[in-house]
Amino acid sequence: MKLHEYQSKLIFSRYGIRIPKGRVASTASDARVIANEMGGRVVIKAQVLVGGRGKAGGIRVAKDADEAEQIAAQILTMEIKGLRVHKILIDEAAAIEQEIYLGITNDRAAKKPVIMASASGGIDIEEVARTHPEKIIKVHINPLIGIKDYQTRDIAASIDLPREQWKTFGEILNGLWQAYESNDATLAEINPLIISKEKRLIALDGKMLIDDNALFRHLDLAEMRDTDEDAPSEVEARKYGLTFIKLDGNIGCMVNGAGLAMASMDILKHFGGEPANFLDIGGGAGADKVVAALRIILSDPNVKAILLNIFGGITRCDEVARGILTAIGEVQPKVPMVVRLVGTNSEEGRQILASANLITAETLADAAKKAVAAAKGELEK
Ligand code: GDP
Ligand code: MN
Repeated sequence: MKLHEYQSKLIFSRYGIRIPKGRVASTASDARVIANEMGGRVVIKAQVLVGGRGKAGGIRVAKDADEAEQIAAQILTMEIKGLRVHKILIDEAAAIEQEIYLGITNDRAAKKPVIMASASGGIDIEEVARTHPEKIIKVHINPLIGIKDYQTRDIAASIDLPREQWKTFGEILNGLWQAYESNDATLAEINPLIISKEKRLIALDGKMLIDDNALFRHLDLAEMRDTDEDAPSEVEARKYGLTFIKLDGNIGCMVNGAGLAMASMDILKHFGGEPANFLDIGGGAGADKVVAALRIILSDPNVKAILLNIFGGITRCDEVARGILTAIGEVQPKVPMVVRLVGTNSEEGRQILASANLITAETLADAAKKAVAAAKGELEK
């Protein structure tokens, strides 16, 4: 789950990281009121869950409350990379001397969190990463120990941070680590972390990604989710407790169990197909879940065939079959569907589905081949 800038910075501030004074608004007139509170000179920042807002014109400085209102009105009608701006952050403007990049993320290859830092922070960090990767310093964290002082000094020295900033930098880095660690984040990033003209280190921007699988123990964070900006099919799936990820292929997959779902996708690819989604309907999926899953899969216009791969363990095949039958009745799919049912009560399941217009398969390989052929229009139901 992505957090907005204002949410991320609020979390950072709880861990002792200095952030600009600011408030969120959703109307231009509120922006004026806030700008007045902040003393006039403010930065108006579009709150959308994509990077590169600065380059897209979604970050602008206003010299007084009048201008703040005008700019706010403009930004609130903007669309940035396909996302409508619904909220803006009005921050007290800062005078920038230097922009530093500081982030923590998972290094999957190293199986450890990694700190990334650069003296060349700001809106061109992606360009720096591409053209001058050596300007981004990487230091791994032992998660059991945390950040050691020598590592902080090492990073501070590597980015040529003025000596008088080292102590505060250490506090910020440790704060960022705490924010990352205790919120089960997969990314905590400050870009830019500025040295202001008054020689203060301030987090001007903030970004956090939270591990979805950890949200159950961070209900306060789960409440921060902005569903305005997720793929509608994923929002719908979440409502029914389905694990769904939209992909770019044309074969819809409905599978019970995450491992089986991944195996099904692999085998589709093996036979030259491309899955349209990952979907785990979970154990004990009744008709309502199956109906929702089928509707979600079919809402994707790319889908040309559907593969149903059900392994009955605790979930009984007859129960799922009934769900499929109800779902077909309700949704009336127009694309061919290949079904493979094995395990508990599979015989009953097949009998239930005999009346439906489905392509049946015995093995997973057989089912995958048939689904690939069906998606190409080479196999009619
Ligand atoms: P992003 O483009 O989405 O990463 O948005 P940022 O919040 O990082 O802002 C982009 C750039 O706007 C920063 O790198 C700064 O150069 C500039 N900026 C942001 N806030 C301020 C501010 O308070 N004062 C000044 N002068 N520039 C700012
Ligand atoms: Mn930024």
